[in-house]
Amino acid sequence: MSVMQYIDKVLAQTAASSPGQVEFYQATEEVLHSLKPLLEREPKYDKYNILERIVVPERTIIFRVSWVDDNGIIQTNLGYRVQFNSAIGPYKGGLRFHPSVNLGIVKFLGFEQIFKNSLTGLNIGGGKGGSNFDPKGKSENEIMRFCQSFMVELSRHIGERRDVPAGDIGVGGRELGFMFGQYKKLTGTFEGILTGKGLNWGGSLGRTEATGFGSVYFAEHILNKYADSLKGKTCVVSGSGNVAIYTIQKLYDMDALPVTCSDSQGTIYHKTGIDLEALKAVKEIGRKRLTEYIKLCPDAEYIPVSKYPKDGHVCWHMPCDCAFPSATQNELTLVDAKALVKNGCKLVNEGANMPTTPDAIEYLKEHKVLFGPAKAANAGGVATSQLEMSQNASMSNWSFAEVDAKLHQIMKNIFDISYSTAQEYGCEDDLLAGANIAGFKKVADSMIDQGSV
Ligand code: NAP
Repeated sequence: MSVMQYIDKVLAQTAASSPGQVEFYQATEEVLHSLKPLLEREPKYDKYNILERIVVPERTIIFRVSWVDDNGIIQTNLGYRVQFNSAIGPYKGGLRFHPSVNLGIVKFLGFEQIFKNSLTGLNIGGGKGGSNFDPKGKSENEIMRFCQSFMVELSRHIGERRDVPAGDIGVGGRELGFMFGQYKKLTGTFEGILTGKGLNWGGSLGRTEATGFGSVYFAEHILNKYADSLKGKTCVVSGSGNVAIYTIQKLYDMDALPVTCSDSQGTIYHKTGIDLEALKAVKEIGRKRLTEYIKLCPDAEYIPVSKYPKDGHVCWHMPCDCAFPSATQNELTLVDAKALVKNGCKLVNEGANMPTTPDAIEYLKEHKVLFGPAKAANAGGVATSQLEMSQNASMSNWSFAEVDAKLHQIMKNIFDISYSTAQEYGCEDDLLAGANIAGFKKVADSMIDQGSV
């Protein structure tokens, strides 16, 4: 059997055993196809059936989360934790609260997390979790009661050396606080079982900023490799949550000009540059929609989703040098990739997880647009979570500068290993292939060492 036949056999088995999990198929297909040059050189991965094993989570937990709303009615949501792979360390990966969450989404995120965590060079395994609970429109008390109920079940499966969740879409400092408080109450222990904690109770300086800052550091490394930099570049950013806000902040630090941000209802185009203070006031403090931004910055333009190009996102249709998808999966399509190429975009750097569709990636590659793949570009968040775990374990607190310097070095190492691995396996400048191969090798070799795990 050829390597491609082996890969396709495993993908077919995966689809047959996990019906309807389309995002999970997309993630497994991308990773497995890019491993071809490695598998051709190293028959041991076939011999030890690594592909068959690595696409199956070690453990999948699905649970009922019943909670009482403000009208005294009992509501029910689904909770998930997928503990995907612990070959190189305890499971680590965020919790997402969004109505679109289902098992396929959690598995795609958990699968990606295995290789991302491996790339950081730190000893962390891959996991992911969340719920189809929608925090939008809920009161603070409802969110607290939901988080407490969610933790009643999750607490049975996590631990400092076992599984350490963090935030993701819909889960920030507030939600992590409610969950941490409930864990403490249930167990009577003060342990670092979550990361992204508040600074007064075990959190790390720099964790809030880490994913966005890390994404920009990664983009700068790519451009530097081609004797270029972010300085003076016009950048389009999607999203207006944690990753987008700190991407925008760091782009200003690098003398670039971010001109867009978005939420699920519409996009802001601010030609003279996004007003960071106004954005933080609307999103971080007010927890409001972007329509409020226009009230603070009347010279900006608001484009509702109803006016977006067919099958596209308006962010990517604005003139730019660099694009930073930082909201959600499959938000940059082939239609968008064509617009970016037409407008002369030089770089797409993925802050979100799997934001670019496979046909869009192919088109960008054909047209020589530089590409920072999510696993590498947004790994700064989880890397800094591990720095939070280190501080908790040694009962110490590092300064912002110390954490930021470590983040900087980690992003440089991730770029170097992705680039050099791509070269080593004949994939030239394909950082996506380099990141997948480098992330996979460490995990797969550890699985071989550990026997029939
Ligand atoms: P967040 O703070 O909750 O913000 C998410 C942003 O994306 C919001 O602006 C949200 O708009 C928008 N969004 C979410 N779902 C959408 C949809 N289906 N269509 C259009 N817009 C949508 O989340 P985040 O932490 O910034 O995460 C953003 C992305 O980065 C995700 O892919 C996440 O997995 C990835 N990521 C996050 C981290 C981290 O440390 N937080 C680390 C690595 C990767 P609304 O408010 O209108 O929903």
